[in-house]
Amino acid sequence: KNESAVGAYLEVFDSLRENAKVSDEKRQKGEGGVLCGIPLAIKDNILMKGNLSTAGSKMLEQYRAPFNATVIEKLNDAGAVIVGRTNLDEFAMGSSTENSAFGTTKNPIDFSRVPGGSSGGSAAAVAYGGALAALGSDTGGSIRQPASFCGIVGLKPTYGSVSRYGLTAMGSSLDVIGPLTQSVADAELLYRVIMGKDPHDATSLDCRVEEKSVRTIGVPRHFLEEGVDSDVLKHFDNALESLRNAGYVIKDIVLPNIKYALAAYYIVMPAEASTNLSRFDGVKYGYHEEGKTLLEDYMLSRGLGFGKEVKRRILVGTYVLSSGYYDAYYIKAQALRSALREDFMQAFSDVDVMMTPTTPTPAFRFGEKNAPLSMYLADIFTVPSNLTGMPALSVPMGDVEREGSMLPVGLQIMAPHCGEGELFTVGKDVEKFVRV
Ligand code: GLN
Repeated sequence: KNESAVGAYLEVFDSLRENAKVSDEKRQKGEGGVLCGIPLAIKDNILMKGNLSTAGSKMLEQYRAPFNATVIEKLNDAGAVIVGRTNLDEFAMGSSTENSAFGTTKNPIDFSRVPGGSSGGSAAAVAYGGALAALGSDTGGSIRQPASFCGIVGLKPTYGSVSRYGLTAMGSSLDVIGPLTQSVADAELLYRVIMGKDPHDATSLDCRVEEKSVRTIGVPRHFLEEGVDSDVLKHFDNALESLRNAGYVIKDIVLPNIKYALAAYYIVMPAEASTNLSRFDGVKYGYHEEGKTLLEDYMLSRGLGFGKEVKRRILVGTYVLSSGYYDAYYIKAQALRSALREDFMQAFSDVDVMMTPTTPTPAFRFGEKNAPLSMYLADIFTVPSNLTGMPALSVPMGDVEREGSMLPVGLQIMAPHCGEGELFTVGKDVEKFVRV
């Protein structure tokens, strides 16, 4: 199960050996930061100076990053060794990495299945041992869902707690960079390195990771009734039972507006993406195709540079932002966002954390979710935390059998803003008490 079979990377850096050697020497002298010598994989929508940064798109096939993302500066300062750039759905739009312009990545556990997405390359690299840990980005689940499909840990931090400077924008009010790792302790370590307010990102903020005692877990049972595979639900209930035996109190909670979260997400996200992607005009960035007029330049460059899913979202996004529909869709979705945040705050006055399965199913087969709406359903449990900005962690909770393969599924833990400390506490207990 090596790289040539899985295809997690778009590029493994030539400088890898040299950088590893330098780190080794530093380590021997007792120098170097907390990540000295640790091999990390980076999703290819996070800029690394001088390297290609494609975001999985033909539009940026030749684009070289002119500066480092803040997270990369922080990793470098901590001594990490960056292995390479990992595959992703084009501009991070998708849940399977099938939307990449540069080929698919296979799930290391079953090659006939997707690794999830959009951070599928990062998740697969960690799962097969192509890196010790990785960075991904999460706009609607793109760290947690592939973590769940590949049997590893994934953290979507509080919105703003990690700088977005140097992350290729998808939905600016939803995007956050976070770690994919083999354990909760590793996720905590990486998060502590990359977090913090950044003068380059006005929406960034300082969260502190506080060790807090956690007692009560809320479960929105009403939201788990439909569409979740029965064996996934069984693992979820077993996990809750183990945590109850370990001393946690499990409470049923109600989130009245959560049923609208997916619909609201698929309005807000395309709206923001269509705006962010307007900069790709064939002039300022990336792919250029010469037409007879300037308008034709735009149409040809964008028409040939963007893939199908990206175009679909640009269409939806410009539609919901157009006058006449703005009030009916975009404003309503924003109102729903506020209502959802209220629901969560209300629930968190009664419980310390909340839990759901990370995904309703295990990894699906290539081509199985060709209908866009069926693909979008993979995000049903992950999008609420992006809409509210709250942090969430996916931890493996067991395997389910599909056609002879044992496939992992994840448990999602959600906490209030800056509640990463609670997530790590409970996440470590899941590792300790839940048999996978
Ligand atoms: N799968 C979701 C989407 O397609 C989430 C993507 C993401 O988090 N980047 O929008």
